[in-house]
Amino acid sequence: MFESLSDRLTGALKDLRGKGRLTDSDIDATAREIRLALLEADVSLPVVRTFIANVKERAKGSEVSAALNPAQQIVKIVNEELVAILGGETRRVQLAKTPPTVIMLAGLQGAGKTTLAGKLAKWLSGQGHTPMLVACDLQRPGAVQQLQIVGERAGVPVFAPHPGTAVGGEGTLGVSSGDPVQVAQAGVAEAKTKQHDVVIIDTAGRLGIDAELMRQASDIRDATNPDEVLFVLDSMIGQDAVSTAQAFAEGVDFTGVVLTKLDGDARGGAALSVREITGRPIMFASTGEKLEDFDVFHPDRMASRILG
Ligand code: GDP
Repeated sequence: MFESLSDRLTGALKDLRGKGRLTDSDIDATAREIRLALLEADVSLPVVRTFIANVKERAKGSEVSAALNPAQQIVKIVNEELVAILGGETRRVQLAKTPPTVIMLAGLQGAGKTTLAGKLAKWLSGQGHTPMLVACDLQRPGAVQQLQIVGERAGVPVFAPHPGTAVGGEGTLGVSSGDPVQVAQAGVAEAKTKQHDVVIIDTAGRLGIDAELMRQASDIRDATNPDEVLFVLDSMIGQDAVSTAQAFAEGVDFTGVVLTKLDGDARGGAALSVREITGRPIMFASTGEKLEDFDVFHPDRMASRILG
């Protein structure tokens, strides 16, 4: 995903090698190259500005290390600043003191929420948890069935409304199986009864941001009081990533971000801006269509990968 950014950054830093001493103009020239590399990769402008200002300030400052030559010193600074914009520490899932832990997924249609539900469930199972999925995307035809297939693959049960019957009940008229808030609540109740320690709620997406989408997501949130609300972001949507993330931060107030489609060849830098722009940590990375293509997001490992 970040091949061209990686190439550009390594190129910019390579020019410094062999220099015994760096002048301010060496540092400025390198900072310009880094700036261009980040902008070309779609990293958002305010994030680039802060990043470059920090690198310059530190490079021109008094950070002298006997163990590193000046070029290595700059590489170290760039690496540390990259780790910082990516969130610093790895952020783990917040587990509820009293199970079940409720994890709600939100994001645009096609972002990879349903796929992620399966990945997360499989990953949590591997950690000794007993997750259950809840199908609350009642908007898109086939979404419930897709989650059921994903659940089967991941080997975890899926709670879904039966068409034409009431949620969690005996078909009591007046309780709509088409109401995602009721399905979510009934799902959490079912998890308690069946002693699943984690509930993952898949919600509806839209092709674009709209008020109804946000209201539905925040209603589900209010009704289930999740321990984590994960905003699922397609890394390939380019500059739209930033505005989408901002809209969800305001509308649903998520606790963490999952970057999907990091295996794609798009520039992807906008996704790298999301932590800095929203203040919410990137928690997981999705790197393919298979259930195994998934991992915890480690800012330091991602920074090292980007720096080659
Ligand atoms: P949802 O509408 O948010 O639930 O999105 P889906 O889970 O249905 O995913 C939309 C499409 O993206 C599907 O074709 C998935 O197979 C694909 N997809 C999901 N995650 C990834 C990923 O990390 N990499 C790639 N290449 N494709 C993905």
